[in-house]
Amino acid sequence: MSSAPFWRALLDFFLPPKCPFCGNPTDSFSPDRPCVSCLPRIKFFSSPRCPRCGIGFPSTSDQDHLCSGCLSAERPFGKARSLCPYEGLIVEIISRFKYGGVARLAKPLGILLADYQDPEFPFSEIDLLIPVPLHTRRLRQRGFNQSLLLARQVSQRRSIPLNFTALRRSRQTQPQTQLSGPERQKNVRGAFEVRTAEAVAGKRILLIDDVFTTGATVQECAKALLDAGAKRVDVLTLARVP
Ligand SMILES: [Zn+2]
Ligand SMILES: [Zn+2]
Repeated sequence: MSSAPFWRALLDFFLPPKCPFCGNPTDSFSPDRPCVSCLPRIKFFSSPRCPRCGIGFPSTSDQDHLCSGCLSAERPFGKARSLCPYEGLIVEIISRFKYGGVARLAKPLGILLADYQDPEFPFSEIDLLIPVPLHTRRLRQRGFNQSLLLARQVSQRRSIPLNFTALRRSRQTQPQTQLSGPERQKNVRGAFEVRTAEAVAGKRILLIDDVFTTGATVQECAKALLDAGAKRVDVLTLARVP
């Protein structure tokens, strides 16, 4: 018999597992999941929402309906979903992960993504995961691609193959956060290219990113993948700018 549970118990006694988000000791059996005070601080989207891009509506009496963005703009992706609005605790955690270089937050955040449950958005209908790529220069600055680290967790937990080389950011773009809606679209236009069309052709692809803002970035990625022969491209992100 393995002695691992004994050592685990001993270790937990001296070093109790800590919540990955707030650092407080947690009695959670899954040390990679947020504690009971952090989890309620993430407001997960629910109906009513836009069936296309997943954005939630404030009125709880409404039915699901297309949002103004989806009615007016071309959405090359099939469906997009985000776990929660980009506000409160998740903003703090994503910025520590992405800009603070705290790469270990990829695991608890990736687990939240992998745990996403939605009958209209089944993981079983996905053939391939593709993270939104970073330009090599930004990758060198940051040291890691946050979307790839998130996609790895989803791939492991949902047993879906991952490809992070087929799609490439061929042009360095300005950070989208500094730009207005129309500027964002222009900024990323033609910024992505598929290097190996045979890797994506005929596949149902799920694009993974951390934040969905106007959708300009994922839309450009989806266009490039569809042009290369992908069957369908859906999008899953942690958070959505309201
Ligand atoms: Zn916590
Ligand atoms: Zn929409």
